[in-house]
Amino acid sequence: MVAEIPVWRDRLTPDERAQLGRGAGVIAQPRPDVLVVGGGIAGVATAAACHEAGLGSVLLIEAGRLGSGATGGAAGLLAPEIHEWSDPEPFVELARTSLELWGELDQTWPGGMGLIEVDWIGLAPDPDGFAPHQRPEVEWLDHDQMSELVPGLAHPMAGALIRRQARVNPLRSVARLAAALPQVATGTAATSVTVRGGRVTCVTTTAGDIHPGAVVFATGLPPMLDGLPFDLPSTRIKGHLLVTEPSPVRLPGIVAPVATQLEDGRLLVGGTFDMGDETPAVRQDVIDSILAALYATLPAVRGLKAAYQWYCFRPRHPDGLPVIDRVHGLDNAWLTSGHFRTGILMAPVTARTITRWISAGSPPAGAGALSGERFAARGHSAR
Ligand SMILES: Cc1cc2nc3c(=O)[nH]c(=O)nc-3n(C[C@H](O)[C@H](O)[C@H](O)COP(=O)(O)OP(=O)(O)OC[C@H]3O[C@@H](n4cnc5c(N)ncnc54)[C@H](O)[C@@H]3O)c2cc1C
Repeated sequence: MVAEIPVWRDRLTPDERAQLGRGAGVIAQPRPDVLVVGGGIAGVATAAACHEAGLGSVLLIEAGRLGSGATGGAAGLLAPEIHEWSDPEPFVELARTSLELWGELDQTWPGGMGLIEVDWIGLAPDPDGFAPHQRPEVEWLDHDQMSELVPGLAHPMAGALIRRQARVNPLRSVARLAAALPQVATGTAATSVTVRGGRVTCVTTTAGDIHPGAVVFATGLPPMLDGLPFDLPSTRIKGHLLVTEPSPVRLPGIVAPVATQLEDGRLLVGGTFDMGDETPAVRQDVIDSILAALYATLPAVRGLKAAYQWYCFRPRHPDGLPVIDRVHGLDNAWLTSGHFRTGILMAPVTARTITRWISAGSPPAGAGALSGERFAARGHSAR
């Protein structure tokens, strides 16, 4: 029997599971200094950072349960170095900083983040495309070295090794961060916003009105709210993942694009980009193709079945990079959206950027790279 849910929830303790549904429909303090709308990893990390930074009372609201959007369906891999090959340098630098911040959180946050350090092994990436960006972190492996590191490959392959990347159970990290927040209201959706004199004065929700000092929208895609029409181009890209039965084969870390081994030997496989597929359902043909690719690369696991299979939608802006910005024309509202395929990785640096911005009133260094203004030239108003 295959479970059509992400594997992550089953791995939580009862206390961690309870955190995800905290404060259902209850707003105890409707005048918080900071309101965060959206309880995915970006929102929870931002609320936690604002609380830690002493920005006053912080209220986090979430329409469903914490982590019920893209966050709960992510693979949870934290591998900034590979973005050297696909993304602009300022983003990669922020991603590296974010992995460092994940490490700090894991050391200092009560109970840690459940961070697991792993090596990233890429099979046969294109050396020509890779070479101009090569950093000391990347070690090239020839066929023989790779066969020794990843036994059982169907064909000899060269590749790259990047040490000390990481992974998390995204729901565990959300639950641990949320546990330290005094005010969380799940089952509470923001529906409209009142703006006066360039400030958000009221956020109306399904559980009543909130009058925040500052508000952060961390809703995956820019939110659809009466009174605050965002004009940022965005879409969502569906992806499928599966987790197999426990495998007798031992993998040395994240073996891309094959699989990542979980603590109990199961393999986490997939991460497809199902362009144009808006169906809210697992597609068996996609699952079958993920398994077929796994068996073709690693014949020793042929016949291993999926025990969990699921899909989720990645929020995306056209350039694949997130927005981390103050809302254009408003003094006390911020937005982070479109984290696409790296929202788990980028959560701590996103949270730190917004927290520093709220605290100082001006953008911290480096924030400009992810401004919504970059879409203004394309006919959008960045709000
Ligand atoms: C198959 C797949 C694999 C992935 N793997 C990785 C990976 O390995 N590493 C990585 O870093 N990233 C990965 N990602 C990307 C990652 O999942 C996302 O970038 C990240 O989860 C986005 O987080 P978020 O908090 O911005 O959005 P979300 O998790 O979508 O959270 C937004 C929340 O806001 C809530 N919300 C929306 N509107 C309202 C409202 N009006 N009022 C109240 N609440 C509201 C929603 O209910 C939701 O819970 C993957 C994604 C997919 C699909």
